[in-house]
Amino acid sequence: MAIVILHPGKERPVVQRHPWVFSGAIARIQGRFPDRGEVVDVQAASGEWLARGCWSDGSQIRVRLFTWNPDEPIDDALIRRRIERAIDGRRRLGMLTDDGACRLVYAESDGIPGLIVDYYAGFLVVQLLTQAMALRRAAITRVLAETLVPRGIYERSESDVREKEGLPPASGVLWGETPPDCVHVRLPGDLWHAVDLRTGQKTGAYLDQAFNRWRVAMHCTGAEMLDCFCYAGGFTIAAARAGARHAIALDTSESALEMLRAGLALNAIATPVETVAADVFQMLRRYRDEQRRFDVVVLDPPKFAHTQAQVERATRGYKDINVLAMQLLRPCGILATFSCSGLVSSDLFQKIVFGAALDARREAQIIERLTQSPDHPVLLTFPEGAYLKGLICRVW
Ligand code: SAH
Repeated sequence: MAIVILHPGKERPVVQRHPWVFSGAIARIQGRFPDRGEVVDVQAASGEWLARGCWSDGSQIRVRLFTWNPDEPIDDALIRRRIERAIDGRRRLGMLTDDGACRLVYAESDGIPGLIVDYYAGFLVVQLLTQAMALRRAAITRVLAETLVPRGIYERSESDVREKEGLPPASGVLWGETPPDCVHVRLPGDLWHAVDLRTGQKTGAYLDQAFNRWRVAMHCTGAEMLDCFCYAGGFTIAAARAGARHAIALDTSESALEMLRAGLALNAIATPVETVAADVFQMLRRYRDEQRRFDVVVLDPPKFAHTQAQVERATRGYKDINVLAMQLLRPCGILATFSCSGLVSSDLFQKIVFGAALDARREAQIIERLTQSPDHPVLLTFPEGAYLKGLICRVW
């Protein structure tokens, strides 16, 4: 096995169990140069053994660490133990039910860097995001098939992480049945959603918002709400169930709006919902110019910052939509505003919303802080696993 030797002074994050070794920390390789995805040991400059992980020649993250125990090999048994532990965690949360949906394996946070497994009413959708995971596709499929006996396992390895790893996108059935065009799942709050596992965004749904929709819906009884970046209408459906008077759901994706309409039918929703296929930046301006007003506005945009260099531009984007949303709120209205850019910290996000309130000349209070749902846990040694932050603000 190749040994990755670090530069002097670079061992600290590894000792503190952070699972990434960046190329800049590596002094040299001892032994045969590792193949893509191969197991390597990591040593300090002093020669001390530190950890074991998998090599990647694609991204700047050269080694992803799996164990800090010198006696523990990275083999199928380790993958099985980690997957079983992750599944047990979701079961204990009560989220692994026949008709439910949740994230079963959340990569680094569950001790398996590069592996995402989402559960949708008996189907599994898998993302193999690193060279190491792509190499172990068959073993992972076998473990998942044996431990859960799902109806089918479908691969959706299409993320930008995969591109950084130098891997082409991959998708298709790995085991069992092909998921139908539309799978019905029951989400927290007994809300039914129509999900397209093969072509929907991410693995089909935004599971990380499952509980937050319910927190926002609390404020929607009798309200006129505007759901910006609605995708399949998670926030709209929850608000309607809570008795919203009227909702407008905005997204550029016509197929997302189609799923939203299917979701409304599934939940037998009576609230009138207008679905609008349009750009949120433009529509917010149009509503402002038309002097439209709402009681609740939800902003759940896609990731604006993919790299550190994009953070400044992302900040301006967040501020822009937050100013506009505040201007559209009636006095005492509710703004539920989110950012899923991991590179934008909670502190920075709060500052952006603060700046937006100043520009909009509105006074605002934070009444609740939100984060990703508990099936997306955050390992204390890997705070990067926390990416979703949200503020529910009352805007006077
Ligand atoms: N709120 C959703 C998830 C939103 S994901 C939920 O609870 O499930 C972000 C969505 O923004 C995607 O559906 C994407 O199609 C949409 N989108 C991206 N850019 C947009 C834009 N400029 N205007 C409108 N929608 C946009």
